[in-house]
Amino acid sequence: MNILLIYPEMPGTIGKFGYMINLTGRKSAFPPIGLLTVAALLPKEWNKKVIDLNTDPLTQKDLQWADYAFISSMNVQGKSAKEVIKMCNNENLPVVAGGPLFTHEHEKFSGVDHFVLNEAEITLPLFLEDLEKGTPKSIYQTSQFADVHSTPSPMWELVDTNKYLYSVVQYSRGCPYLCDFCDVTALFGRVPRTKTPYQLIEELDTLVSSGKNEMIFFADDNLIGNKKSLKTELLPALIGWRGKNRYAPAFATQLTINLADDEEMMELLLEAGFRHILIGIESIDEVSLIQMRKKQNTRRNLMDNIRFLHEKGFIVIGTFIVGLDTDKTDVFQNVINFIQESGIVLIVINVLKAPPGTELYDRMVKENRLLEDFEFEEGRTNIVPVMDPEELHNGYKKVLQAVYAPENIFKRIVTYYSDKKPHKVKYPIKRKVSVKDFYNFMRIIFKLGVTNEDRKYFWKTIFWTINYNYRYLDLTILYLLLMYQYKKLLESFIEREKNNIYIYSDKLRGDIRYKEQLLHQVIPTE
Ligand code: SF4
Repeated sequence: MNILLIYPEMPGTIGKFGYMINLTGRKSAFPPIGLLTVAALLPKEWNKKVIDLNTDPLTQKDLQWADYAFISSMNVQGKSAKEVIKMCNNENLPVVAGGPLFTHEHEKFSGVDHFVLNEAEITLPLFLEDLEKGTPKSIYQTSQFADVHSTPSPMWELVDTNKYLYSVVQYSRGCPYLCDFCDVTALFGRVPRTKTPYQLIEELDTLVSSGKNEMIFFADDNLIGNKKSLKTELLPALIGWRGKNRYAPAFATQLTINLADDEEMMELLLEAGFRHILIGIESIDEVSLIQMRKKQNTRRNLMDNIRFLHEKGFIVIGTFIVGLDTDKTDVFQNVINFIQESGIVLIVINVLKAPPGTELYDRMVKENRLLEDFEFEEGRTNIVPVMDPEELHNGYKKVLQAVYAPENIFKRIVTYYSDKKPHKVKYPIKRKVSVKDFYNFMRIIFKLGVTNEDRKYFWKTIFWTINYNYRYLDLTILYLLLMYQYKKLLESFIEREKNNIYIYSDKLRGDIRYKEQLLHQVIPTE
């Protein structure tokens, strides 16, 4: 049996890091770990081929080779997933689809022969059993959560890891919190399930032995969701592993702001090699945080927490949302001020949108405020905002123009480094520099320092860093790549605006019916 495993294309959002990845000579940020895990769950004797549309095209020859196409997709890849299904249908290739996109809204996808939904560890064996009997059903679902102790290692050999900037592993699934815009608890439950340290170390060994020395991303929903197992099992194991791997790369992950309350956890994470941590700040307004049920961000000084994490040695990546029901017109300037003062360099600004499978989505349906299908783009909403849509569009643009401006990025870099205190760890992160790295570095210098119109800020930041602490140059280069990425994203936003593409649905333009409807239906939440 020939199986073609297809990963649809990611849209051009900040998460894709498209422009900066091109400059580093890679094709995509992260390999498709979910699809590679599905591959490992398939019978060993089957022939498998992975096509990641973020790195390679899908050809007719690939489709003709296969007996089945397996598509795994997140919500953000909906548009590309539809195109892939169509291509398979044109070649009469049976399609098996799974992943969050289909788990939430399988009924919206025609052309799929078999939906294998929820967690593949449970539903895929049922499909395979029926397939063998010659009676495969059209849909496999479960309300159970998988025991990740038996999850196999992803089949890394099916992709060329050199095409990716980073590598990915996953320790846990699930999150104890209930943020209303997030589908994690619906998909994976509130009790985080963890792999064993042994499983993780095995995966890390595979990645490191294949020569990957860039950062490894722990694709957990909230790494500190299960603090006990992290402190007593995984982190001690990772520290031991780092001791044996002198050139082990740094780790990045996603977690919650309450890390700042736990000194022991911070120390262990730093010792284990975690540096970049993505934290959902979302709003700096307590009322908004309560409405979105982001309980863990309330009753604390977010600014102090972030600067404390920077001081300890972490690099915070912050996500923010504007266009919340409770947002007033001053939200835009407040967010700008907060970001500038915090020294967070890598930020993601979203307009409130309702992904399927979330509490927010259900509320929007109930309030008749859902305008179109969810298609992930930071600067796009699928709902009727409470704020005047044009005001929201202009306010969002104002935030982007401010926080993406090179002079403001430079100021944040200075704030960040000024907050960061030297922190001694037993196994500092060291990096082997290869000829390829040197070549990439020269390409970056040429592109950003010679031909780029913002080269003034490039050299200003480089010289400032050398003068302040030359050891930070590696991180500064990453920030400068980001500066370039932001510039391109802003240009594309302005271009879209010129083509009359706004952050809100076309249905709202010049049509006051929706706003009137809204005035009667929105139920303010405390
Ligand atoms: S903390 Fe993060 S993962 Fe957990 S529910 Fe909130 S947004 Fe989702």
